[in-house]
Amino acid sequence: MKKCFNCHNQVEADFNICPYCGADLNKEHQSLVQQNNNAKGNLGWAILGFLIPIVGLILFIVWNDNKKADAKMAGIGALSGTIGAIVITIIIVIATHSINDSVKNDAIRACCTDSGGVWKNSKCTKAPGSMDFDYDFYNDCVSYID
Ligand SMILES: [Zn+2]
Repeated sequence: MKKCFNCHNQVEADFNICPYCGADLNKEHQSLVQQNNNAKGNLGWAILGFLIPIVGLILFIVWNDNKKADAKMAGIGALSGTIGAIVITIIIVIATHSINDSVKNDAIRACCTDSGGVWKNSKCTKAPGSMDFDYDFYNDCVSYID
C-alpha cells in the first residue's frame, strides 16, 4: 500500500492512477526524484568528504543513484580533500628537505671554521695568507655529517 500524494487515501502499491481522486501517482514519484536531483546538496557532506576523503568517496558511490546532490557534495569534498592531502604532503617533504639542507650547510660551515678555513660562497677555502688549514680535520668533520 502507498499513500496518494493528492488525497492522502491508501492506494494499492501497483496503482498508477489514484482510484479516489484520479491523480497520476507515477508523476508524483517522478517529480520527487527530480526534486531530489535538483536539490542543492548539503555542504556538510563536502566538509566531511574533505576531512575524511574515503568516507566522501563511499557516500558518493552509495548516493549517486538517488541522492545526486549530496553525492556530488561528498564527491567534491573527497576530491579536494585528497588533492589537499597530496599538496600538504609535498609541502612538508620540501620543507623538511630544505631544513635538512640548511642544517647540513651550517654543520659544514662549522667544520670549515673549526679547521681554520674560511667559508665563502658555500665553499670552504684556506684563509688567504694562513698556513694552518687542517684538511684532514675538515674532511673527517664533513664525513660525519651525511
Ligand atoms: Zn488520490
